[in-house]
Amino acid sequence: MERIFGRPIVTQEEMRARIRELGRQITADYAGKDLILVGVLKGAYAFYADLARAIRIPMRVDFIIVTSYNSKTRTSGKVKIVADLTEDIRGRDVLLVEDIVDSGLTVQYLVKTLAKRKPRSIKVCTLLSKPERRKVDAQVDYVGFKIPNKYVVGYGLDYQQKYRNLPYLAVLDTVEEPV
Ligand code: 5GP
Repeated sequence: MERIFGRPIVTQEEMRARIRELGRQITADYAGKDLILVGVLKGAYAFYADLARAIRIPMRVDFIIVTSYNSKTRTSGKVKIVADLTEDIRGRDVLLVEDIVDSGLTVQYLVKTLAKRKPRSIKVCTLLSKPERRKVDAQVDYVGFKIPNKYVVGYGLDYQQKYRNLPYLAVLDTVEEPV
């Protein structure tokens, strides 16, 4: 695909290598457990598909759709479940798969909400993390890449619902980050 946003900040090759490592780590950590890999849509779809195939143990797959940002890039500070899981997570080992942890509000809300359903364990794997922007102390157990305070698109992440299909991660310079 044409590089419409200049140099990628994470290339396809770097992504592939890091996801392989995460897959190996998760495979070792969850051996013998009842893993259910929960993708947080839409943003995590690309990462999820690659991560799931890098995990080499039997596991269940499920998805949850949440909205936390409006159609621009401003946060409302509120998180809403738009479509819930279809599987029962009681007694199972849940691993939430996120695209990016920014303020931490989405992850904090999801962990709190899903914990009420009594899983045996609940952990969080995110492709990206912006530690500088954290507003709450969100639980993050596996991180693909720590990135600076920039608005990124591609590899599942959007700007106004577009650019999710870029096969690499790029900075969208024209977008102002919300405070
Ligand atoms: P949080 O609740 O941690 O503030 O935000 C998480 C959500 O904000 C992510 O799932 C993602 O949808 C959105 N987000 C935060 N930073 C970025 C970014 O740099 N680019 C894009 N496309 N979305 C972001």
